[in-house]
Amino acid sequence: MKKPTLYIIIPCYNEEKVLPITCEMFLDKITELIQNDKIDDSSKIMFVNDGSKDKTWEIISDLAKKNKHYIGISQSRNRGHQNAVLAGLMEAKDECDITISIDCDGQDDINAMNLMVDEYLNGSEIVYGVRSKRDTDTFFKRFTAEGFYWLMNKMGAEVVFNHADYRLVSSRVLNEFSNYKEVNIFLRGMFPLVGFKSTSVYYERHERIAGESHYPLNKMLALAFDGITSLSIKPIRMITCLGSCIAILSFCGVVWSIVMALLGKTVAGWASMVCIVAFIGGIQLVCLGVLGEYIGKIYLEVKHRPRYIISERTSKDNSIND
Ligand code: UDP
Ligand code: MG
Repeated sequence: MKKPTLYIIIPCYNEEKVLPITCEMFLDKITELIQNDKIDDSSKIMFVNDGSKDKTWEIISDLAKKNKHYIGISQSRNRGHQNAVLAGLMEAKDECDITISIDCDGQDDINAMNLMVDEYLNGSEIVYGVRSKRDTDTFFKRFTAEGFYWLMNKMGAEVVFNHADYRLVSSRVLNEFSNYKEVNIFLRGMFPLVGFKSTSVYYERHERIAGESHYPLNKMLALAFDGITSLSIKPIRMITCLGSCIAILSFCGVVWSIVMALLGKTVAGWASMVCIVAFIGGIQLVCLGVLGEYIGKIYLEVKHRPRYIISERTSKDNSIND
């Protein structure tokens, strides 16, 4: 059997501090896999510059000149992690047999790639990298991240618990995946929808080697919201259920007040009245907000705007030396 060509897809946003360190680790790994006869020598490490404002793109361009395994593409502006990974995957899908997407900060254990490639060679088309523990994350990061997976699953967006975007995907899956045309993308929830044989490998998550996280709480909440609203209509159903419950309760209230009125024991206070009106008003606003969120998504989808724009590529014939 022909050895598969692997493309490692690495999104980078303002990573000038960490990239010079981790690029060596990626190169060592790909060289090791080639030497062990697991993958073909045409395998590449593809950096996707996500509109960085620092020297990230210069670093990537220099790397591409130094070694044939390094290549890079640059997005025309910052579009966020998910779009950067998507751009890399779509760029790579016709050039290779397998892709592995991984962050560039060295947090995800690179050694898990050996297991991933083995699982692919054993017949899996998608291999999810799952964090076995998060001991090195701060309590706050761990709490919010685990809350994120819990909320996602409760809201009907099925995601693999503790799997982020470290995964192996075959080009066969990517070709099917390219038919998913939505603009609101949440990769980790979408790949399970494509199907095919999949499995998980477990690894420990380390601390960031250098630089700072670009996923503060507000970005994480935005990602959770995108994930839920792009994968599930459960919140709309919950609104319907909530509405029905409130309608039943109000009906009971009406019956109760009529009975009280007939018995001559009319309730005097208007406070209770105001409370009920305010409560119903609040619920209505929340419901409108959720509906609005979906309508907003429809609005963004119907425009069919491009999901990424590649403005630059490192030259293909840069393989002067090894
Ligand atoms: N990233 C990106 N675009 C962004 C934000 C982040 O491409 O707008 C990349 C970043 O360079 C890194 C990965 O996405 O390789 C994960 O980001 P980060 O490590 O900051 O997130 P965390 O691991 O803290 O959740
Ligand atoms: Mg990170």
